[in-house]
Parts: sequence; structure tokens; C-alpha cells
Amino acid sequence: MCLFSIKYAGIPLTIRTIFPYISAMHRVTIEKADSYLRREVKTAISRLLAPLGGIAAFVKPGERVLLKPNMLAAKPPEKAVTTHPEVLRAVIELVQEASGIPLVGDSPGFGGMHKVAEKSGMLQVAEECGAELVEFSEPVEVAGTGMFKRLALARPYLEADRIINLPKLKTHEMMTITCGVKNLFGAVVGTGKAAWHLKAGADRELFARMLLEIYLLRPPDLTIVDAITAMEGDGPGSGDPRHVGLLLAGDNALAVDLIAADILGIPEKLRYVERVARKLQIAGAERATIETIGIPLEDARVAGFRLPHLSDVQFGLPVFLKNRLRHYLTSRPVANPELCRLCGVCRDACPPRAIEIRDGKLLFDYHRCIRCFCCRELCPDGALDVKEGTLLHLIKKYL
Ligand code: SF4
Ligand code: SF4
Repeated sequence: MCLFSIKYAGIPLTIRTIFPYISAMHRVTIEKADSYLRREVKTAISRLLAPLGGIAAFVKPGERVLLKPNMLAAKPPEKAVTTHPEVLRAVIELVQEASGIPLVGDSPGFGGMHKVAEKSGMLQVAEECGAELVEFSEPVEVAGTGMFKRLALARPYLEADRIINLPKLKTHEMMTITCGVKNLFGAVVGTGKAAWHLKAGADRELFARMLLEIYLLRPPDLTIVDAITAMEGDGPGSGDPRHVGLLLAGDNALAVDLIAADILGIPEKLRYVERVARKLQIAGAERATIETIGIPLEDARVAGFRLPHLSDVQFGLPVFLKNRLRHYLTSRPVANPELCRLCGVCRDACPPRAIEIRDGKLLFDYHRCIRCFCCRELCPDGALDVKEGTLLHLIKKYL
């Protein structure tokens, strides 16, 4: 019997799900693509996958292949919030050419998947190509492999024969960037995401660990990053599109993320997921085990990529002092009354319920707020700004 047809608790067993800690060499390919013109994207993705064995190395005839784009919110493609529909189209076509059955699924941060797919252009592409959209609505509990004993992920994600991860390369106010590993947080169904934010609180390392445990539960077979237009600044929902002109791919999402962070020049201390992965000795977290193919890394580097306002600084202060000074040290979300329509999206998404609408105003309880910035991520009107803690502001000014 073929190894790939064996399942445990409904999850297909692959080399990656059985041996996530094996340290082998990982190949990450990098290709240029200057625009989202249909033919250019398809040609670039075919070139990108060729050194990895082409799509046939990842998809066998008759397999149900789940494509997991970034469907964070209902925004048009030019906002760079979601994976571009032409990247999705190219991968659907390649899966079909390999006689696989493409499915497209995610659980958006807010709103139904259908609405996000429609606004982002992915619905039209799926319909034109005859790919089925599968909403991540049914969670299935499975035993965790590390610190978190039980994890509930979407049934279509767990049960697909193959997973092709299609992240958008963006900044992220809590985790610095979102790429291959963070994109898999979408496998947590709807409100389950808020519960995980609450569990991790403002602790980035704990949140990184949770992301890694989700990743290890069912690592994608292939990750293809849409970095043709990335997002810089205050991502993942309110940043600015930035032309990067690249596509990246690899069978190890962590290795792909590490190379993406190198390309953007992300400082080591801000790479939370990578650092925790290295501590846990997860395969793909060591630079020495990654070989890049295609465009030389030196030619791919992006100068002056703007990072997000991070919500605190890493002082190494004792915890009791950090807790007392938290309000002054950490940045916090504030509403811009000229843009806020009091729609309540942020209030409903806030994991610790730290937002309320009263007397025609949006009010924050900063003692409850865990600085996850889900509110900014999901505000449809970009009506939330970041205010630096007073002490943080002074430190940055004078140190
Ligand atoms: S800040 Fe944004 S999400 Fe929150 S109520 Fe105002 S418009 Fe709605
Ligand atoms: S107010 Fe915003 S940043 Fe604070 S916990 Fe709620 S969603 Fe997170």
C-alpha cells in the first residue's frame, strides 16, 4: 500500500506529517514575475516548480488537492490583502493538468468565505476553472503534537489528499510577517481563531508556537508564495501594496518563510515563528539547511521594505515590571472618528471583548486588550490607528 493512502485520525500520513523534525536539505525556488497578466503568472509558476519536479511531484491523478489561499477579508486584489486570483488560477490549471481535483478553501477572519471569494476575484476564477469552493465551517478535533493537547481544524483541510498553500507575502503587526506558516491559521474555523488569540494573549512566542503546532499537524505538501505585489507597513489588513515582483515555492513552508524574510531584510529578533521553530528543532528553521534555486538571493532582495508598528519592545525587563508598565510600553489601537462608521466588526472580532460601542463612540478597555490587532486587521474602513505607549515613544525618541 502506498504511504500516501494511509491515514491516521483522518489525516493522510506523509513523510512530513510523520517526521517533521527530520533535518534534510530544503529547496526554495525564487522566480521573477512582473505583473499579474495571466500568461506571465502561469509561465512563472511553471518555471518556479520545475526544479522541484513540477506539479506532478506533488499531485497524482485523482487526488483531491486543497488550495489554501489567503482570504483574510473581502477586499479587491489591488489592495494586496488576499492572494491574487491569477495566482490561484494558474495553480488550479496546473493541478487539473496533473489530473488532480482542485478544491479552494479557507476560513476568513471575518465574513463568509463566499463574500471574500467574490470580492477578491477568486470566486470568478474558481467558477471559470470548474474548481469547487469548500468553506471551512466544520471543525474536527485532533490530538496535538506538542504543548497544545487538542487542536480543532477544518475538516476539508484535514481530509484533503494534498494541500497546496498559497500565502500572500504581507507584514503582520503581531508576528512581523505572514507567509507560509501563518497562512495555515486559516485552517482554524471562524471563531476558534479568537479563542487561540486569547490563549496566547500578547505573548508572541506562545502564538508562534501555536502556529507551528497547527503547521506540524498537517504540513502542506507545497507552498507557493504570491509576492508579486506584497504588503508593507501595517499589514496584514491595513498596509500598503508594494511591488516585489517575485514568486517563491518549496515543500517546506518554514524554509520558504525564512527565505522570504531574508528577501525583505527582516531582522532576526523580529522573526518570531522562525526563532521558536529553531528552538524546537523543526525542519526548515535552519538557514544552513536551505538551498535557494532560481533568481539569486542577492538579486531578489528588496530594499527599504517598511515593517509594521510593532506593539511593544523586547527590553528583557522582569515580568512583574513589564506587567506594571504594560500600558505605557505597548502600542494600542485607537479609533479615527472621521473614518469609523461604528459598524461593530472590530467589536465582534475582539478576542477578549475589549471593545464596545457606547453613546455613539468606539471605546476600548486597554486593561483587557491583548494587543493582537485583530481589530485593525479586520476593520473594513481602515479606521483604527496605532498609538504608541508614552514610555515606548520616549524610549524610541531618545535611545
Ligand atoms: S473601527 Fe472599523 S470595524 Fe470598528 S466599528 Fe469603526 S469602522 Fe467598524
Ligand atoms: S482591542 Fe484590538 S488589539 Fe485589543 S484585544 Fe481587541 S482586537 Fe486585539
